[in-house]
Amino acid sequence: MTATLADLTTLRVGGPLATVVDAESEAEIVDAVTTADDAGEPVLVLGGGSNVLAADSGFPGVVVRDARREVVVESEDACGGAAVWASAGMPWDDVVVRAVAEGWTGIEALSGIPGSTGATPVQNVGAYGQEVGDVLASVRTWDRQERRVRTLARAELGLGYRTSALKRSLGRDAGWYPTPRFVVLRVMFQMRLASLSAPIQYAELARTLGVGVGDRVDSAEVRSAVLGLRRSKGMVLDAADHDTWSAGSFFTNPVLPPDTPLPEGAPRFESGDGRIKTSAAWLIQAAGFAKGFALDGSSASLSTKHALALTNRGGATAADLLALARVVRDGVRDSFGIALEPEPVLVGLEL
Ligand SMILES: Cc1cc2nc3c(=O)[nH]c(=O)nc-3n(C[C@H](O)[C@H](O)[C@H](O)COP(=O)(O)OP(=O)(O)OC[C@H]3O[C@@H](n4cnc5c(N)ncnc54)[C@H](O)[C@@H]3O)c2cc1C
Repeated sequence: MTATLADLTTLRVGGPLATVVDAESEAEIVDAVTTADDAGEPVLVLGGGSNVLAADSGFPGVVVRDARREVVVESEDACGGAAVWASAGMPWDDVVVRAVAEGWTGIEALSGIPGSTGATPVQNVGAYGQEVGDVLASVRTWDRQERRVRTLARAELGLGYRTSALKRSLGRDAGWYPTPRFVVLRVMFQMRLASLSAPIQYAELARTLGVGVGDRVDSAEVRSAVLGLRRSKGMVLDAADHDTWSAGSFFTNPVLPPDTPLPEGAPRFESGDGRIKTSAAWLIQAAGFAKGFALDGSSASLSTKHALALTNRGGATAADLLALARVVRDGVRDSFGIALEPEPVLVGLEL
């Protein structure tokens, strides 16, 4: 039976696939991508499919997956810390498990984020006060434009909140969509050595651990507290729990000019670049969309545990999810004049 995008994505929607290449080496990845680019065929480099909403009509091009599962320690000492690289196909949470076990700090709060290591720099994944950018040294990529392997240093990655130069290179007009111009082959990390975590930055996590913001605790404790918090919000994949049949947060938190009036009671954070950030989940609920909200007769709903996740209750289509996303986006815009932007990559669809 031909694979469908529903089989390969955590939202479990999306139609048939023409070709799937499971590449066992860097050369095979480059070959599959280059062959498709030469033929003018669309390319979808897919990791865990946890940040994709794909069309019911399927994907007419080539899906390339990195089958390699490698973590290599280049050097490790008390002065320089741990210089480690992981192949793009390595499941991200396995890297976190290894880091916690080895005493490499800085990614313990990123426990339980689904998907591959290669996708982590694309949207600079973050949670509970940490971002992958905090420990990224560089990224080895295949540059589809210049047709050569290029290592991009951290400073070249233009990392920001849920974005990077890799994500910006997706651009629908540039012709690379739905995969970035830069295909990640390997991610290099530089982590400090310590059994204690990096300072806890997130108030809810600090409260759960019974410590103050800025304190450091055993990294294994941080991992287990984060997994507990994430499970309570349906943010750890669990086939039996429809609240996790999602792409995680469906909308990014809006980042706005500093003088933007926010609705009364809306959370307000400094975004670090002079702008302000507010909570998309808060706006969604304040606009009248409670957890579990669904359109009549639809199998797509907001998660019953977290208003920011759009979920498939079983048998939902991409069209169901898109219809829900539009109603929520429009409701927030009509209530507060704030535009919500989708976080997942939409394959064969537009919001
Ligand atoms: C339950 C749940 C919870 C989540 N929680 C979080 C969270 O806390 N924080 C957070 O930031 N995200 C979260 N996410 C979103 C998602 O897990 C991350 O964005 C993750 O990094 C996506 O990885 P993936 O391998 O599944 O990417 P995919 O969904 O397979 O791909 C997403 C995009 O990245 C591109 N891509 C994938 N691999 C590569 C590569 N090697 N080179 C270049 N481009 C590539 C794809 O082409 C596509 O454009 C969550 C998702 C779910 C389902």
